[in-house]
Amino acid sequence: MLTQLAPGYYLHKPDAIADLGALLNASGYRKVLIISGSRSYQAAQTALESTLNHCGISWVLCRYQGECSDENALQIVQEVGTDWSVVVGVGGGKVVDLSKLVAWELRVPLITVPTLISNCAATTSNAVVYDTAGRVKESRGGKIPPQMTLVDDTLLRRSPKPYFASGLGDTLVKPYEALMGATTNTLVETAALKLAQIAADCVRDHGVEGLKAFAHETALPVITDLTDAVILMGSLVGGMGGPVLRGAIAHAFHNALTMLPEVHDTLHGEKVAYGLLVQEALLGRPSESIHELRDLLIGLELPVSWATLTGLPYLPDLSILRKLADWTLDSPLVEGRLNTIGADRVVETIREVEAY
Ligand SMILES: [Zn+2]
Repeated sequence: MLTQLAPGYYLHKPDAIADLGALLNASGYRKVLIISGSRSYQAAQTALESTLNHCGISWVLCRYQGECSDENALQIVQEVGTDWSVVVGVGGGKVVDLSKLVAWELRVPLITVPTLISNCAATTSNAVVYDTAGRVKESRGGKIPPQMTLVDDTLLRRSPKPYFASGLGDTLVKPYEALMGATTNTLVETAALKLAQIAADCVRDHGVEGLKAFAHETALPVITDLTDAVILMGSLVGGMGGPVLRGAIAHAFHNALTMLPEVHDTLHGEKVAYGLLVQEALLGRPSESIHELRDLLIGLELPVSWATLTGLPYLPDLSILRKLADWTLDSPLVEGRLNTIGADRVVETIREVEAY
């Protein structure tokens, strides 16, 4: 059994970034490589530079816009060299995952500072690796997880709300997918399934209320729980339960969607939420439970149809739908789980979801 429970140090509070300099000093990390995107760095800059300067840390910033790809990670290493004691990834999922590739390449620890509440990338040991055209290549696992994560409420409360909604969608999906992968009934797997359910219940019970309050200055305490549900709990599920609990049809459908340019600008959790509807319909769940799920997704400001996902009024041509179906069924995430289901049935299901 391999569990990858990470990070060892998870600090979630207002102004958490202010602790970074002292943490780097306490760990003896003197040469710090920061990887960040333009917008994420702008959000964190004042707090970040203040703590690093105050604690006398020598650091270099590598600003990056683009995919989390092997090519981009290697390019960064070529540009900055290999003499670093730690990588600090400051950003959303793709920037943080790119930081993982760089840290693994440099063989140094990684500290993450998420700037969005959009997924569990900051705490998971996996990185979603894309090709240079922005299509998902693989979810790379089995690597050393981030060592520390600083979740700064002050910064995150100013982050864009659609990303928060997307994170809620990516968390809601966890028990639906984890239950499909559960096979062993071991104590650890049972605990992982319970964690998935607890995180999803938090989203189900408080997500709509949390989204409404998110933009207000006096945010509800429940947003703290929702933030932990998105950023920490999801990765504990995969970290305890292993790859079989990390995803199923909803994520396989998400990965297939990334192949289509018209879906490229939609957020991860938006595609996953729509993929969850397809998953549940494909598994033949009763229509009442699909309606209930659909209503919840609408309340969470997540897409429930092709039009709400893409802004395009009609489903794509049959040839594209067939490709989507083939890519979904070919995914390792559905291996052995949909043996009796063919591409025609998947296409039919996508059409059924439109009709709900
Ligand atoms: Zn996800």
